Amino acid sequence: MQAVDYILVGQGLAGSALAIQLLNQRRKILVIDQPDNNTSSRVAAGLFNPVTGKKMVKTWMADTLFPYLHNFYSQAEQTTGEKFFFPMPLYRPFLSVEEQNEWMARSADPLYAGYIQEIFSSNAFRYVNDPFGGLLLKQCGYLSTTRYIGAVRKWIEKEGYISTEHFDEQHLRIQQDHVVYKDFQAAKIIFCNGVHNSSWFHWLPINALKGETILIQSAFEENIIVNRGVYIVPGMKSGEWRIGATYNFQDKNPGITPEAKTELEEKFKDLMDISYQCVSQEWGFRPTTPDRRPILGSHPEQPSVIIFNGLGTKGVSLAPYFSDVLIRWMENGTPLNKLVDIERYKSVYWTSPK
Ligand SMILES: Cc1cc2nc3c(=O)[nH]c(=O)nc-3n(C[C@H](O)[C@H](O)[C@H](O)COP(=O)(O)OP(=O)(O)OC[C@H]3O[C@@H](n4cnc5c(N)ncnc54)[C@H](O)[C@@H]3O)c2cc1C
Repeated sequence: MQAVDYILVGQGLAGSALAIQLLNQRRKILVIDQPDNNTSSRVAAGLFNPVTGKKMVKTWMADTLFPYLHNFYSQAEQTTGEKFFFPMPLYRPFLSVEEQNEWMARSADPLYAGYIQEIFSSNAFRYVNDPFGGLLLKQCGYLSTTRYIGAVRKWIEKEGYISTEHFDEQHLRIQQDHVVYKDFQAAKIIFCNGVHNSSWFHWLPINALKGETILIQSAFEENIIVNRGVYIVPGMKSGEWRIGATYNFQDKNPGITPEAKTELEEKFKDLMDISYQCVSQEWGFRPTTPDRRPILGSHPEQPSVIIFNGLGTKGVSLAPYFSDVLIRWMENGTPLNKLVDIERYKSVYWTSPK
């Protein structure tokens, strides 16, 4: 029997961040993951942006999450020796003079000043439809998620144990102070499996939100992300851009749809005036929660069985900081923020034993 400190099930953005943090702290880990091209983490454009939404407000905990993620992914690049983190400004065209004036005023607000790189009052970038100028935001960028997950996987292979298999719950035995899975014994098991949530946590409201993106080839060459209606994020190859994303709670079917392609292309044409070829289309399901906050904590009756899930639409910015929060809670008993603690759902959804 091989003894480790933790078994992690799932190596998407949640499991990868947790694995890095644990290995950095010299913990022994076994990661079990069955890679699938359509998992949320693999199809994500990897965008991180601290000022979002129709009203363009600071995202939840931005002042904590964004400095943390910059440090985390830069260090992960150094540790793994691979390049996957690309900080770059994000440009949002204004729709009117009123909006332009509103941002001129907001630029003096200390709450926003740290995120504004520049405000343009007339067309600033070739091919972008921005007659009223726009807002250039800093602390933004993208993570090449497939490269990141691949790099972390190689590092786990070197420093810990990784098993490419479908985790079979029949083989899990839960004892009073440890768990056993096949030939491995651990103090705790942590489920990071996104929408394929474990049966231990089937009662939690983790809802699959379908998203689709398209990959295009065009002559646009600026070193920025453009965002209004859709985002336009650099792809892996020169001249490739990922356009996304759709949000569809109704569609629970796997696969791409012509409706999503039409929606994305129409929004792209509103934003950009440039010819392009569509190279491919992708789909995936985001693991969302009703209050849009992650879920951290232990099973109501099994303290060794832990969950790290519910990263929703913002896995890139949430996973680094909240993996750290989870470890501090598991190892030092540091209380969890009530907004992410599984406790908030226990009274509403927990009724029967597994
Ligand atoms: C189209 C689209 C675009 C997106 N764009 C962005 C973006 O730009 N920025 C952003 O921050 N977020 C984005 N997201 C959201 C982001 O992808 C998610 O927040 C994040 O990937 C969730 O990560 P996760 O690790 O919790 O889950 P997942 O990515 O689903 O990873 C779970 C892992 O567990 C494995 N697994 C599950 N069950 C088992 C089992 N029984 N045995 C073995 N392995 C198992 C899966 O194969 C997978 O590898 C996007 C999502 C979609 C769908």
